[in-house]
Amino acid sequence: MSHSIEVLVVGGGLGGLTTALSLRQRGLQVTVLEAANELGEVGAGIQTAPNASRILMGLGLLPQMEAIHTQPEDQVRRRWKDGSIVASKPLGREVQADYGAPYWHYHRADLHALLLAACLAPERPGPVVEFATGCRVTDLDQSDPARPTAVTDAGRRFTADVVVGADGIRSKVRDLVGAPDTLVFSGEMAYRVLIPGKRIADDPATRFLLDRFHSTIWYGPDRHLVHYFIRGGQYLNVVAIVPCSPEIEQTWSGPVPVSELVAAYPGWDDRVTAMLSKAEDNVSAWAMSYRRRDPRWVYGRVALLGDACHAMLPYQAQGASQAMEDAAVLAEELGAVTHAGIDGALARYVARRAKHAGMVQDASLENMRFYHLPDGPEQQARDSTLQEFNGESDVSYDWLWRGTPLDDPDLVPFDYEFRR
Ligand SMILES: Cc1cc2nc3c(=O)[nH]c(=O)nc-3n(C[C@H](O)[C@H](O)[C@H](O)COP(=O)(O)OP(=O)(O)OC[C@H]3O[C@@H](n4cnc5c(N)ncnc54)[C@H](O)[C@@H]3O)c2cc1C
Repeated sequence: MSHSIEVLVVGGGLGGLTTALSLRQRGLQVTVLEAANELGEVGAGIQTAPNASRILMGLGLLPQMEAIHTQPEDQVRRRWKDGSIVASKPLGREVQADYGAPYWHYHRADLHALLLAACLAPERPGPVVEFATGCRVTDLDQSDPARPTAVTDAGRRFTADVVVGADGIRSKVRDLVGAPDTLVFSGEMAYRVLIPGKRIADDPATRFLLDRFHSTIWYGPDRHLVHYFIRGGQYLNVVAIVPCSPEIEQTWSGPVPVSELVAAYPGWDDRVTAMLSKAEDNVSAWAMSYRRRDPRWVYGRVALLGDACHAMLPYQAQGASQAMEDAAVLAEELGAVTHAGIDGALARYVARRAKHAGMVQDASLENMRFYHLPDGPEQQARDSTLQEFNGESDVSYDWLWRGTPLDDPDLVPFDYEFRR
């Protein structure tokens, strides 16, 4: 199908690329403007629950996903002090059978490269996506309301029928349209590191982690820890959430020594110390911020998407996944109209997505307290809730993993032959 609507996507992260590809698939002409000189992602892992996997499968990416995924066989929740298992639930075939899509882990760079390759592949349906890197958008010209123009720091002008601000948590597009300041610093920070799987395998104290791949969360007073393998065990991806240090509160992110990461978990199960001390010299710390709920995502022909409008704490592992849901819905809406229908399509995009994403934002924020309870009656009640494995806060996994309903007739349920 060919389509004459042109879209500019500002930001080539996971949200921007999924949007570009989804629009391309519907026949729209897309140009992505990216501030960085090279497109890419940070060296870390990412989890996609069925709601996100379903979007990627709908883009015809299953063979490529199979080539780069790691299958966690269970979700395991442990107590900080002795590592005892509070709850465990299969994430493999059972999830695929229930939700028609898998719960998989990836290296972010692999997932990003997969999307980029699909945007550029000449043989895929729709017009090949165009990219302009080294293009930081610094201004918007909406003097022609039907044809907004994004202006870059070098003065280049790009005009289209719709501009999508997919430029992340500190979105410039958001500022330029005059959206309210909804950014909140959480007071916490995340240490992020990839630990070579071989180092984990070589130590009898940590080798158990490779026996069966899990997505693991350790819960403790005022901090938690998430880890899972990516690239079939090549790396253990670790996200360690703790109260923010004054240094990182000043700089927002930066490298930290391994010793600082290890020292952040005093008195925790010995296996935590053994695991974290295997990190090499690549630990970074990131101050954690989020956005308050924001029902207005569209300003004329400029629409916000992903972290630009619903940045959330990563305590549901859903930020990128929600951006992918935005992409699918935006493409359904814009793909179904001609120029005359653009405003209605953008309004329906917000109507279908803003409340849903807002609920995930709120649930992720609730988890900050829920995850970090001191030992006592509240923690015991929480652990009982966790055993039910139907979500942690007000939203259930069932609701979350089914995702925003899509109209896409090409979506087929998925049942995967069980392998890593
Ligand atoms: C520790 C941690 C763990 C997480 N784990 C998960 C997980 O397991 N699963 C999950 O779904 N989500 C997870 N998330 C959330 C996820 O990483 C984000 O929600 C997601 O990457 C946001 O994608 P985005 O495309 O909206 O923004 P971004 O990834 O921030 O991309 C924005 C892009 O815009 C570009 N840009 C910025 N300004 C401009 C400008 N002015 N002009 C042009 N380009 C610009 C940037 O260079 C960047 O490439 C996690 C987050 C953290 C911090």
